[in-house]
Amino acid sequence: MLTEVADGVLVRQSAFCLSNAVVVLGGEGALLVDPGVTGADLVELADDLDRLGLRVLAGFATHPHWDHVLWHERFGDVPRYATAACAAYARDGLAHLREQPGADAPGAPLDLVGLLKPLPPHTIRLPWDGPDVRVLEHRAHAPSHAALLVEDAGVLIAGDMLSDVEIPLLDVDAEDPIHDYSASLALLRSVAAQVRVVVPGHGNPGRDVAARLAADRAYLASLTREGPSDDPRLAPDAAYGTDWLPQAHLDHVRMAIRS
Ligand SMILES: [Zn+2]
Repeated sequence: MLTEVADGVLVRQSAFCLSNAVVVLGGEGALLVDPGVTGADLVELADDLDRLGLRVLAGFATHPHWDHVLWHERFGDVPRYATAACAAYARDGLAHLREQPGADAPGAPLDLVGLLKPLPPHTIRLPWDGPDVRVLEHRAHAPSHAALLVEDAGVLIAGDMLSDVEIPLLDVDAEDPIHDYSASLALLRSVAAQVRVVVPGHGNPGRDVAARLAADRAYLASLTREGPSDDPRLAPDAAYGTDWLPQAHLDHVRMAIRS
C-alpha cells in the first residue's frame, strides 16, 4: 500500500527488512526510487500505480546493493538513473544475479536487475520531468551511494542511511569506512534544515532527521571508544535485525580496532 508522507511523495514498505520504495509525483507521472525487493512487492506497486493512473517516467537506485536495483517490466522501459559509479558497479558486480539467480529477490524479474543509466559526473539535479530533486552523492554504506532531496516537499530519500531500526552499516571494504560515513553524515546535515521528512531505505519514515543524524554520529563515535554500544537499535528487545545486526556491529568494532 502506498502512503503519502509529504505532498507528492508516497512510500510503499515491504515486509522484507522494512524496505521502502518511494514514488515522487511529477506533472505527467512518477519517479520510482528503489522499487522493491520481491516479485510480489513489485507487482503490488505496479497495481497501486495503475490504480492511481500513474505511469513511471524514470527510476533511481540509491546504491548498488541487490535490494535497491530491482525493476519490473510493468514499470516500463524508462531511464533508471544512478550515479555513474553505482551504474558501473551494478552492471558488472551484479551480473551474477542476472545470470545465475539465487535466493535473493524471490519472484522478481532478475534479468532486469541493475540495468542502470549513469548520471553525468557531478550531476546536481535529477534529469526528469517533475519537481526539483537534488542528488547527494557520497561514499557511506556503499561505493557511489546517493541520497535524493525532493526540495519543495522537503523529503530526504536517504537510501541505506538515517534508519530508525538499522545502525549505520559501514562499507567495511573501503579504505576508511568511518571517515567516509562521517563525511556523508556531514553532507546530509548540510541540507537538514530543508528536510521535513526523512525516508530511509529500511525502517520507518520520520520527521526527526536531526535526531537520526545525532544517533548515527553517536554510533560512529562509540566505535572508537572502549565499552559496548548503548545504541537502542542494538538492544536485545529491538524488534528488527536481531539475527544479523549484532554481527554487523561486531564487524564494525573489529574493523575499528584494526584501523
Ligand atoms: Zn544497502
